[in-house]
Amino acid sequence: MKPNQPPGPPTTLRKEILEPAFHKCVDPFRIVKGKGFRLKNFDPGDTCGLTLDKGDAAELLERTTTWLSEMQDMLYAQDRCSLLLVFQAMDAAGKDSTIKHVMSGVNPQGCQVFSFKLPSAEDLSHDFLWRYIKCLPERGRIGIFNRSHYEEVLVVRVHEELLKRQKLPSISKHIWDERLADIAYFEDYLTRQGTIILKFFLHVSREEQKKRFIERLDEPDKRWKFSAADIREREFWDDYMQAFEEAVQATASKHAPWYVVPADNKWFTRLVVMGATVKALDGLDLAYPQIDPQKEKELAAARAALAKQK
Ligand code: ATP
Ligand code: MG
Repeated sequence: MKPNQPPGPPTTLRKEILEPAFHKCVDPFRIVKGKGFRLKNFDPGDTCGLTLDKGDAAELLERTTTWLSEMQDMLYAQDRCSLLLVFQAMDAAGKDSTIKHVMSGVNPQGCQVFSFKLPSAEDLSHDFLWRYIKCLPERGRIGIFNRSHYEEVLVVRVHEELLKRQKLPSISKHIWDERLADIAYFEDYLTRQGTIILKFFLHVSREEQKKRFIERLDEPDKRWKFSAADIREREFWDDYMQAFEEAVQATASKHAPWYVVPADNKWFTRLVVMGATVKALDGLDLAYPQIDPQKEKELAAARAALAKQK
């Protein structure tokens, strides 16, 4: 692949990009059946034997971006399905930069990004899915959840005092299983409404997280990212991993798969997320809407009218 090579039509891109590079590095991380899922079987440093350097990986991403942007345009024109990309991760796993890189060529009009932080008083006055439902992508759009409804079975599970603030009339002793079942039904419902759901867990190792925190302390232009709270959350690492494992076991399905994305190498993280996204859109066999005979007549009349005008 040469740096200034013009992008070909989608079919060329499909053959050049999807088959060799992505096929191999997306499927191993895709979980469609929760039963038997164990996080320890996934290595955060995995690169599937690929040894692309930073430049090659960036170039491949750039070419794929062209294709993603073409598919997004058709998704928008069809105005039927929407795509929801859910990102969950421990701090410093690279959520923000992955979102930035993967969506870099996409038309901002067709894309909606929401970051979920501590819930507001208004959020806490409603059921636990309320604030996420409000942010679901419209038809034809790509929606990105930077953290998501899964926080309700991750951080809220790890710090049960957060649950007490949710003003529930009573707390069942099966609350986590119930919430996970509610989430799975919610996602079934969304799928039936035409939302394609992909869920990414950026799986960073504890060692790599420590290295990135130290970089944040050492490098002047990364210091703003440092938060003492992130260091405190590290203490709860095992609880988070356990909660996450159970979330995947309860909510991985064919229509709303989880991708446990190795996150110790940022270039590889981006490749897997990009690969999964273009594969999902490619599977929709998108095309621009056909014009019906009535519309054809209108177009012909418009052309004739324009031809008569000065
Ligand atoms: P970054 O650190 O890159 O800015 P971030 O997503 O970590 O991104 P922060 O503002 O650092 O953003 O943290 C947001 C915090 O809000 C996280 O610790 C997250 O777990 C927490 N949070 C998200 N949803 C909920 C929720 N429903 N209840 C309680 N805490 C939540
Ligand atoms: Mg943070």
